[in-house]
Order: sequence, then C-alpha cells, then structure tokens
Amino acid sequence: MENGVFGMVLKQLDTTAEIIGLDENMHRMLRQPERELTVSVPIQMDDGRIEVFTGHRVQYNSARGPCKGGIRYHPDVSLDEVKALAAWMTWKCAVVNIPYGGAKGGVQCDPLTMSKSEIMRMTRRYTFGILPIIGPRHDIPAPDVNTSSETMGWIMDTVSMLEAATTLDIVTGKSIELGGSLGRREATGRGVMITTMELLRRLGKNPEDVTVAVQGFGNVGSVAADLIRKEGCRIVAASDASGGYFKGDGLDIDGMIQYTETSKNHLLAGYEGDGVEVISNEELLTLDVDLLVPAALENQINEKNGDNIRAKMIVEGANGPTTPEADNILHDKGVIVAPDILANSGGVVVSYFEWVQGIQSFFWDLDEINQNLKNIMVSAFDTVWELSTKEKVDMRTAAMMIAIKKVAVAMEQRGIFP
Ligand code: GLU
Repeated sequence: MENGVFGMVLKQLDTTAEIIGLDENMHRMLRQPERELTVSVPIQMDDGRIEVFTGHRVQYNSARGPCKGGIRYHPDVSLDEVKALAAWMTWKCAVVNIPYGGAKGGVQCDPLTMSKSEIMRMTRRYTFGILPIIGPRHDIPAPDVNTSSETMGWIMDTVSMLEAATTLDIVTGKSIELGGSLGRREATGRGVMITTMELLRRLGKNPEDVTVAVQGFGNVGSVAADLIRKEGCRIVAASDASGGYFKGDGLDIDGMIQYTETSKNHLLAGYEGDGVEVISNEELLTLDVDLLVPAALENQINEKNGDNIRAKMIVEGANGPTTPEADNILHDKGVIVAPDILANSGGVVVSYFEWVQGIQSFFWDLDEINQNLKNIMVSAFDTVWELSTKEKVDMRTAAMMIAIKKVAVAMEQRGIFP
C-alpha cells in the first residue's frame, strides 16, 4: 500500500471502484499515471553558485482530452505529491465535464528565499526540461501554489523562443496582456464562493447567519473570503503560512488583502486590525464556525484533528486538504464536505475558457466568463448533490463516482492501444 499523498488518491479510488463496481482492468489502469517525468533543474544563483533543483511533471490520464494542471513551487513538492495532484486534476476535469485529462507539475524549492531572477531562470530551465511532453494538444500547464501569471509569461516566452513561434496556448493563467482570460485570477476563489452559495441554498441557510474561517490567504483563500463576505457571510478568521487572525464580529477582508499587496512575500505576518486576535493555523481549523474553507495545502484535516473540527460545513479550496480517515470522522459527525474536485474547479474551468479563447483568438467579456463559469459549476454541483442524496453517500464519494465513470467510459470507448 502506498503511503503519502498518493496513498490518499488510491484509497479514494479503491472505495469508489468498489461502490460503482468498476471493471477490474479499468481499476488497475486508473491506479497508475500514464507518464511521469523527473528533471534536474540546475541554475546559477545570484551569488554565482550553481543550485540543482528537482522538478516533476506527471500526466495522469488523457482519455478525455489533453492533460491539464498547474505547476507548484514548494519545499514539500515530491513525485508522490505531484502524482496525487495530477490524479485529482483528472477527476476534477471529469466532474465539471471539461474536455481535459489531468496533469500536475512542481519544483522542489523554497521560492520565498529566492530572488525574482533566480525564480525566472528556474522556471525557464524547468520548462525546457518538460518541453518534450507539454503542448497545447498534449498537456497545458497553469499556475498553482507559489506560481502566478508572471511565471506563466516566462513559460510562454521560453517555449516561444525555443520553437521560434509565439505560442500563446501552451499555458493558461497568463496575464491579460499575454492572451490570458478575464476572470482567471479570481476563478478558483469565485468557484469556491459559487459552491458555498449552492450548499447554503440546499441546506436552507441564510448567508447572513453563517460564520466562516478561511485557511490560506493566497490566490484562492483571499478571493474566496472576499466574495463569500460580499454574499453576506461573516469571515471571522483567516490565516496563511505566517499565522492566523480572528475577529468575532468579522475581519476587514479588504484591509487584509490591501495589506498583503505590499507585505513581505505577500504574507499576512504583522497584520494588525482593531480587535483582531492572533491565532495559530491549528486553532483556526478547530474554531466553532459554521463553515470552514481550507484553501492552503493537502493533509490539513486528518485523523489527528478530525474529531476536533467544529464547523458544520467544509468547502475545499485546496487540493486534498482532508484525508480519507478524516472524511470518515467528519461523515460520522454529520459534517458536510463539498470536495476539492468540485469546489476548487473554477480555476481549471476558466483555464479551459482561456485555452478556447486563445485557439480562436477571440476574447470574451467578463460577464460572459463569469456566467459560463457559474453555469458549469452549478450544474456540476446539482449532479453531485443529487447522486449523493440518491445513493446516501457523502459528496466526495458522489463526485468521485461521477468522475471515475466518465474517465472509464472514455477509456473503454477508445480501447487499449495498439
Ligand atoms: N492549479 C489549479 C488547480 O489545482 C488550476 C489548474 C489549471 O488551471 O490547469 O485546479
């Protein structure tokens, strides 16, 4: 049995396979990624030293379309983690029914200690390393933890220089000036808000009565906090890698976002507000709130703290924040979890719009993008909710059942090559 994050993926897959009676051959194929690539990424640091980083790109499954998924820069990146994230991308694209398979990439590094030019050289060298397997019809990278539209611009430029042709559709999550899509930066957080509102509607809850804690204040958490607050909920706690902040009658999310625009590494460290208490990340997770939004990394809600979770609803902005053991604990406690592959799919959905717009060289306005995003996410939510009610399973299991069936049908119809 695999340990680590990929072990979580296998547990989720095996459970689903049993429930849907998945064909045994199909099951064995789905337990392995199609392709794994590990590259060495040597770069010259600003002080003249050569540092050798390790990067990965995993293409988990391409039965439903070209592989799609972000690139992560983090000290904890490993092949195991990238494999798991690539599998989740596969299920995610299937749940929201966009024509992609799943991939993920990452470089093990600590970008917070690196200069911008070091990160740029690392990005270019990593792009060169994975170039043989990426491409607009093969595998399309995007931003993830610690990467942004700036990183995507460097990737686009590196590929364009090496191919001597401007290649806009090689990555999504680009800046608007470089052929990015309106609304892409906010898309994951917006999708978390859309999922939250659908969940509250189904449970007959008024947003005004809902208190929220958000773990993570990056591209996903900060946007989700802002948009959920605008719908009427009260954000009482928020945190990032530097620590957490609590205020019972509601945090000033606008003020916090403004603070991170100019703070060191865009972290909340040092943020002060009237009546704001400093708390730890662990305290944030176990606060007595109605809704918890984990929007940071994997493995945050696990068998150690699962019992202490007091939120009644969890909407997963991060990938893999809840372990299968914690899922069982939460299910027994009656906590409703809107799973990552549904709740955080807004990013890849608008990435899909960006790719389509780039291919057509015809760009849509923001209203059209947000409306299309909402249609796709609400319809995916409905399908998952209905199946979970009908089969009396939690929403993750329902979402997995839908995803695995879709991928399996595509594999079956294509047949085994050769
Ligand atoms: N990294 C994001 C995710 O985990 C977005 C991926 C994409 O847009 O391809 O869903």
